Amino acid sequence: MVYKIMQMVDFEFRNELIKEEFSLNYCYQCGTCSSSCPVAFITEGEYNPRKIIEQSLLGLKDLLIKDQKPNVWLCCTCQMCVEECPQNVFLTEIFERIKNKIVLAGEPYPETFKTQAKSVIENGLAIPITHSIIRRRDQLELPKVESANIDEIKKLLDATNFKKKIKLVEENK
Ligand code: SF4
Repeated sequence: MVYKIMQMVDFEFRNELIKEEFSLNYCYQCGTCSSSCPVAFITEGEYNPRKIIEQSLLGLKDLLIKDQKPNVWLCCTCQMCVEECPQNVFLTEIFERIKNKIVLAGEPYPETFKTQAKSVIENGLAIPITHSIIRRRDQLELPKVESANIDEIKKLLDATNFKKKIKLVEENK
C-alpha cells in the first residue's frame, strides 16, 4: 500500500500548491476541520476536508485532479474549517487552487460553475438577483443588494483575461 502511494506522489504538484498557499505546510492532521464541516456531516464523511489536505501534502495529484475523491467541489466555502483550524490553515484557499487546476487540466467539473462564470461575464454577478430573491430578502428584512457596476467588472475581467480563460477551458473539453 505504502509503495503504491509512493508511486503516486507528484512533488512538483505538491510544491506548487505550497507555493500558492504556504499555510498548507502547517497542517498536523488533527481532523478538526472535518469534524466542524457541515458538508462532511451531511455526506456522512464522504466529503472530508482533512483528507483533501493530506492528499495535497502528499502530492497525490491524480486522486485530487482526476479521481476527485474526496470531491473538492462539494466544499460550500462556509469557512467553518478555516475558523476552527488550530494551525490557521487556509483550507478554502487551497481548495480554490485545486479547483482551478481541475478546470485548467480539462477534467470534469460541475456545470453550475460554468453557468456562474458566464453570468459574471454578462451580469457582473455569479447569481443574478431575481424577483423571488428580492421578495425573500424583503420578507427577511435584509438590506437591498447594490447592483454591480458592470463596466468596472468588465474592465477587471479583461485585465485578468477571464473571458479568454473560460473560452480556452471550453475548447479543451
Ligand atoms: Fe490540518 Fe487544520 Fe484540518 Fe487540523 S484542522 S487537519 S491542522 S487543516
